[in-house]
Amino acid sequence: MKFNLTDLLSNDRMNKKISTDVSINEFKFGGITYRTADLVHIDLEITNLGYKEIKVEGSVKGTLKIPCDRCMEEVDYKVETNFSKDIKFDDDNEEKVQYIDGYNLDLEKLALNELIIDLPMKVLCSDTCKGICNQCGTNLNKGTCNCDNSEIDPRLAVFKDLFKEF
Ligand SMILES: [Zn+2]
Ligand SMILES: [Zn+2]
Repeated sequence: MKFNLTDLLSNDRMNKKISTDVSINEFKFGGITYRTADLVHIDLEITNLGYKEIKVEGSVKGTLKIPCDRCMEEVDYKVETNFSKDIKFDDDNEEKVQYIDGYNLDLEKLALNELIIDLPMKVLCSDTCKGICNQCGTNLNKGTCNCDNSEIDPRLAVFKDLFKEF
């Protein structure tokens, strides 16, 4: 969704508020694909600061589905961030290139950037998650297996890392 800034840019000190939902189904970051549980809500206040500069302030709220670090089951992870950015229009600076297309503010890109900034290092489905059996791949929260996991064979530790890739 794009918000046209032409009107705002032609009136110094003009201010606009936007409250809307944007659709970001999934995105990739650091080799991992993240999916959203629902639409992402964005509240914005855009102010023309004059001298070809605007201030974009607001918040982004959404829920991501992130695989548990131990068992890979998807966990709902709520994101709520506040941000404030000044974007200059007089040159091709980084923020302008990232969020502005012509004289349109790209709300999806803005929301996506906030989701990425707020990504956790890792998520657990529960503090007591038992994870996946290193040998047979059974989700140990859901069942048991007959493997002897008392000692991890270094050759099998490779598989443990492989499971994390998926
Ligand atoms: Zn888990
Ligand atoms: Zn097993």
